[in-house]
Amino acid sequence: MEIHSASAATNAGSVTRHLIDTFLITHPHLDHISGFIINTAGPPGARPKRLAGLPSTISAFKQHIFNNVIWPNLSDENNGAGLVTYMRLVEGGSPALGEGDGKGYLEISDGLGVKLFSVSHGHCIERHPHRGSSASSRYGSFDISAAAASPRGAPGSTAASGPPSLFRSSAASQEKESICVYDSSAYFIRDNATGREVLMFGDVEPDSVSLSPRNLGIWQAAAPRIANGNLAAIFIECSYDNSQTDDRLFGHLTPRYVIQEMEALATTVEIARQALPNLESTKKRKREAREASNGANGAGAAQGDDRPVSPKSTRPAKKGPSSTSGAEHSGIDTPHLATPTEEMSLDFEVSAAPIVQDPQFTNALRGLKVVIIHVKEKLVDGDAPRDTILAQLQEAEKEAQLGCEFIVSSSGQSFLL
Ligand SMILES: [Zn+2]
Ligand SMILES: [Zn+2]
Repeated sequence: MEIHSASAATNAGSVTRHLIDTFLITHPHLDHISGFIINTAGPPGARPKRLAGLPSTISAFKQHIFNNVIWPNLSDENNGAGLVTYMRLVEGGSPALGEGDGKGYLEISDGLGVKLFSVSHGHCIERHPHRGSSASSRYGSFDISAAAASPRGAPGSTAASGPPSLFRSSAASQEKESICVYDSSAYFIRDNATGREVLMFGDVEPDSVSLSPRNLGIWQAAAPRIANGNLAAIFIECSYDNSQTDDRLFGHLTPRYVIQEMEALATTVEIARQALPNLESTKKRKREAREASNGANGAGAAQGDDRPVSPKSTRPAKKGPSSTSGAEHSGIDTPHLATPTEEMSLDFEVSAAPIVQDPQFTNALRGLKVVIIHVKEKLVDGDAPRDTILAQLQEAEKEAQLGCEFIVSSSGQSFLL
């Protein structure tokens, strides 16, 4: 990239006009869209800027931003000025696009493919209850509203009398039961030439507190890409440090929840690794099978060996040398060993083992950068939130042994991935 001007502002204008073609928006909250909106009125580039996101995100822009009230309609829909064009992305990827590892990825600009997944980012804070939620113990205005609706409640009295009982006594609790989970999203962004990817979150809440937990689906999509070394980094929010209580998360993460989510990811990665065709482990299994059958003359040989050996490889020993020699020659398991019953007993023994004690599970996320974004500034003296968050993540990592590298991003930072 060539820099043409001594003026940072001119360079910024040039980059925006000529180099940035498409904006990937995770959700339409103001802190995520204001810069884009303000700059749409600047000098236009050669063609309309593309605004990409979930259909619900695009709909929010149409209805609430580019509506000739909050901002002129600069879009190319509804007789707008045509400086912005909307791209409604298919959630979970576009099945007809791409092939191989790039299947489902939409080429969003030259050489870059994207795949979008929706995630949960809190739920609405109106006064109606949310099924299965802890909404009745939520904060401030909500509780006061609930109190006002109850016969004995009055604004200001909620702290003393406690919101949960007030809420139960309120007529609002019978009105309707609905889940109004707020949608955000995460993008896999793929360099088509190398297959290298990053996973970019906007705002997201933990599965463990969500009314609509969806992060696990993303971890399952990410796992094979980590297992094969193609996913270089995950950019994920951590808005607050661990002192933030659950009823004040507002659909965000804290270090303990980042770790919890990374542990869920680590588990899926281990499963993906075990599913990978691995020449070394296949060889090892065959070697163990041979050793077990060779030692079968003395029945005690297999029993005395306390290495964790799969039922498949111990079984030939029980059958004796004459029946295993065939298997040894063919290099494959005998049909008898491949019966469903045998497979089920194998599965059972594998899954019954406590996976966290498997040494392979330690450092499951090795090589992965976890870049923390969206740290909310406290604007007070004392430790910077970014320092507290990093310290809390690193402290938790000592126990979790995930093996990933935590980085708290800063403005203007670059990453070589
Ligand atoms: Zn948000
Ligand atoms: Zn935000």
